[in-house]
Amino acid sequence: MSDDQHPIKRAMNKRKQPLYRKVNTTAHGVHHLYGGDYRDERHSKPQNDAEVRRQGMHGSKQRGLDYTPLFRFLLSRAGANWQEVYSEAVSRLDKSEPIFWMVALRQEDEKEFVRTGEASYFSGMKVDGDGLLQLVNPKIGSGSLVPQCRCCTHTFNGIRFTRIYDPDAALGVSAYRFF
Ligand SMILES: [Zn+2]
Repeated sequence: MSDDQHPIKRAMNKRKQPLYRKVNTTAHGVHHLYGGDYRDERHSKPQNDAEVRRQGMHGSKQRGLDYTPLFRFLLSRAGANWQEVYSEAVSRLDKSEPIFWMVALRQEDEKEFVRTGEASYFSGMKVDGDGLLQLVNPKIGSGSLVPQCRCCTHTFNGIRFTRIYDPDAALGVSAYRFF
């Protein structure tokens, strides 16, 4: 049996698929992208609410790579051993930094949600005392936040927000929390 036909080797190759993809710059929502250099890492991190407020409604985003597959992967590993999740994620990434946009290793860095794209939000995650990857607040979902503009489809963990745009609630605030 040759290497690429071997079921275990094939499974390993499959597991090595990258957890990021090139951004399609013609995608919906691109009208919000402005300024800056997309290669500038300082501007590419997901932002907490305070940072979003400082930078304005839509902030600035990295336009080169999309780490949505990573965020979905991390989310799907809630409850799993962090070291194993981390090792696999790193092996499928160009850099480890995006992991920590979503996962906080220190309590003071924990966030209930993170903004990962123009109108994309994911659960903030942490590593618990048993070394397991966990959601910071499992109660936050697609009904927890309100959209910050009318024109973009806002999603939380890939699921469309159930609340509708409210100009009063959304004024100058990113995904106003609305429990
Ligand atoms: Zn919009």
